[in-house]
Formats: sequence, structure tokens, C-alpha cells
Amino acid sequence: MFNFDNSYAKLPSRFYAKATPEKFSNPTLIGFNQALASETLGLNTDIFNEKALAELFSGQSIPQNANPIALAYAGHQFGHFSPQLGDGRALLLGETLTAKGERFDIQLKGSGQTPFSRKGDGKSSLGPVIREYIVSEAMHFLGVPTTRALAAVATGDAVYRGHRLPGGVFTRVAASHIRIGTFEYFAAQGDIDAIKILTRYALDRHYPEVSPGENRYLDLLKQVACSQASLVAKWMSLGFIHGVMNTDNMSISGETLDYGPCAFMDNFAANRVFSSIDRNGRYAYNNQILIAKWNLYRLASCLLPLIHEDQEQAIKITEEATQETMVVYERKYQEAMIKKLGLFELREPDSALINQWLQLLEESDLDFTLSFRMLSEENCALKKSERFNGFFSQWKKRLADQPQSFQQSSQLMNAVNPVFIPRNHQVERAIQRSLEGDYSVFNEMNQLLKTPYINHDKWGIYKAPPKPEERVLATFCGT
Ligand code: AMP
Ligand code: MG
Repeated sequence: MFNFDNSYAKLPSRFYAKATPEKFSNPTLIGFNQALASETLGLNTDIFNEKALAELFSGQSIPQNANPIALAYAGHQFGHFSPQLGDGRALLLGETLTAKGERFDIQLKGSGQTPFSRKGDGKSSLGPVIREYIVSEAMHFLGVPTTRALAAVATGDAVYRGHRLPGGVFTRVAASHIRIGTFEYFAAQGDIDAIKILTRYALDRHYPEVSPGENRYLDLLKQVACSQASLVAKWMSLGFIHGVMNTDNMSISGETLDYGPCAFMDNFAANRVFSSIDRNGRYAYNNQILIAKWNLYRLASCLLPLIHEDQEQAIKITEEATQETMVVYERKYQEAMIKKLGLFELREPDSALINQWLQLLEESDLDFTLSFRMLSEENCALKKSERFNGFFSQWKKRLADQPQSFQQSSQLMNAVNPVFIPRNHQVERAIQRSLEGDYSVFNEMNQLLKTPYINHDKWGIYKAPPKPEERVLATFCGT
């Protein structure tokens, strides 16, 4: 079924370890992304029935030309460095090539222990499988670069996370699984040769269009900085909080990677934190670009000796490159936000208007997603609120000052302001139901989140913000 061409496995053997999936007693297919399989990956799945797909996507049958490996990486987790993490509960089956020559990693997550498992069981419970499936696909349809969900399998066996939970395996599709932490792994060992190999590999695979500058290491740093800045700008424009922006979760390709304790915000609060383990708010909503920059410094420090032999010079050069991140971010963020307000072209004072609006949302405890959507209505209910008077008069003036009609603005807004996001209380409901063997909420959410900008009345409950008692205040790590 796959057209495997495993380039990572051809890198030196210290980049990975061979791994084999575990046996499970009764793998059952609970999710399969047919459109991704056939349209994006060009796979022919016709000859596979459900049982065969369940066997395949739980690692019980290894497809032809697969070469299962667990990748080595390190990472800064909540600011603390771990020199050896690696795929402890995941393995790369192989890289499949499409007819157009695009290369995708096919990774099984939760398929059992690998040489990097340390004390972990290498498995996943069903909850994180359901969460990653729903949220990563939703992100894709919201237009955010992300890893994708190809399949979800219930293994039929239990995992223990304080108590017994059903186990699952998730099949992730990614541009690659190279992370900032992959560079850190080799840098910590002083393995300059490996950094050279990895840099060349990452540039060839993810940034082939970039013409080589004077220094390839600086080229890579600049590209990663730029794609991370654009990525975080997208997250911010949708109220998305990644939750665990450790360097081992920051993909070199610029895709959103690792849907652990992530969440979309309901009512807006700039310093919102969701992750139950993020006690200091390190990965709060409004801190995300600063953390992305911090992570880029970690990448820069791995590349430093290759950027310039004189350390001071090297630091100066990388400093400039990472500063550029903030410039790109500010521009991308503002461009995204003005569209959400129905403005076609960014002007100097627009950032004040954006901030004024966000501050009002926060003071009024309003839903981030639906408030933007409401603005596009001629008779927006918020106009009745005195508190919003100042904003509305500024905004009206600004709208009148552009050549487009209100109807055109309204169309623009509806094209960028989603009606549906994977609301956390609904994701939790999908998980709870799935644990009971009922996948209807999971299936419904996957269906409706394919068209997040279309207001389908019949999906009303998925549109509504949580009632106070339904609010999910913390999300948990995907272990
Ligand atoms: P994550 O929280 O997914 O970013 O994982 C951080 C590190 O912990 C990675 O090296 C994982 O492979 C490892 N890890 C997490 N859960 C498990 C588990 N159940 N068994 C083995 N390794 C794990
Ligand atoms: Mg991770």
C-alpha cells in the first residue's frame, strides 16, 4: 500500500534505533482518514478490509518495505535539558512518497517499547489518541501547518495510568519528525559531524527551494525561525494554546507537532494556561512567541560553532537571525488579525484596534471564536453593550476608510473566523464516550471540523461555548 523510501534510515545508525511493535490482543479500527490516504498520500487501500487496516495501523502486520525505527532526540522540557529522550512510545514505519514526489513520515504512536522507552511502557491510552486525531485534523482544516491523523486503533489491551484504561495506537503523518531536540541530541555529545549531516538533510527535505547562502547552518536557522514565527501567528489568531512547547516538540518543518495538553480557548484571557503540568504559565497563550524564540536560541546554540569560528561573531549573527523571528511574527500576526476584523490592508494604527478589541473580550469574559464571528453580522449584538461603543466607532471609521463594502468585509471575516473549533469540553466528551466504546461524538466532530467556516445549524451544540459547569480548566499530558 505504501510507496516507502526510507531516507532517515539511511543516515548513520546513531540517528535512530531499530524497533518492533508489540503484539496486541484485539486491534479494532476506530478511525481511518480515507481522504488523507487516497487524496494526499496516494495510497490504494481498496484491498484492505477493516481488520487488515487495524492490523496494519497497530503494527501487527508490517507492510512491505517498511523499516521501523525509533528516532533519537533530546530536548529542553519546561526549560530543563534532557540529553536523551527519543521515540519512547512511537516508531517510524517509513517514509512514503507520493506521485508528486512529496515525502511523508508514517509513524505509529503507542505501539510499545523502543530502546528509548526508559521506564515507560511505550504505549498510549485511548484518550490521547482521540484528542490528537480530532485536534490535528481540525488544525489542518483551519489552515494551520500540522501533522495529520491517518488512523486510530483500539488495541483491546489495557494500559495503566494510575488506573486501568483502554489502550490505543495513533498513526501520525508528518513532513518529518526532525525536531529542535534532534539537533540538541547531537550537540550535547559534541557530535559536529552529525549536526552537519542533519542540517544538510533538513534543508534538502524541508527547504529545498532556498538557495544556499554563505552559511548553510545560518540558512537553516533562518528558515526554521521564519516557519515557527508564521506558525505561532496562526495559533494566536485562532486562540490555540499548544501547551507543551518543549524543544523536542518543535518541528524543524514548521508543523504543529505533539497534541498533548493543547486546547483552543473559549472565553478570552491573554495569559490563559491549560496544561495541568504548566504551573508557572511558561506556555501560556500570550507567551508562545517568546517561547518559540527561546527554543530557536537552543537551535542556534547547537549550530553556533558551525556558523562562525569566532564565538562572539557567531552569537552576533544568530542573535540577528532570531530577532528577525519577532519581526516576521508581528507582521504575520497583525495581518491575520486585521482580516479577522474585516480589514483588507494592514495600516500602522491597526495594532491598537486589535488590542482594544481583545481587551474588551477579556474584560467582558467573551468567547474568542464566536465574538469574531459575530462582528461580521450587520446587527452585531455587541453593539448594544456600552463598553464596546469606543471600539465600534473606531472600527466603523476604519472600515469606511477602505474601498471595500461592509458585505465584502463580512465575507472576508467569515472566511477566516471559524464557527467550529474543537472545543475542549467536546473533545473531553468525545474521549469519555470513546472510553465507553461509543465513537459517535468522535466521528461527528471529525466530520463537522472538516468545514469549520460553514455555519451548519444542525451542529449547534458543537458551536456553543461550554456552560460554566462544562468548562475544562486543565488538559493533561498525552502519556
Ligand atoms: P511527549 O510528552 O510526547 O513530548 O514525550 C516526551 C518524552 O517521553 C518522549 O521521549 C516520549 O517518547 C517519552 N514518553 C512519553 N510517554 C511514554 C511512555 N508511555 N513510554 C515510553 N516513553 C514515553
Ligand atoms: Mg513529544
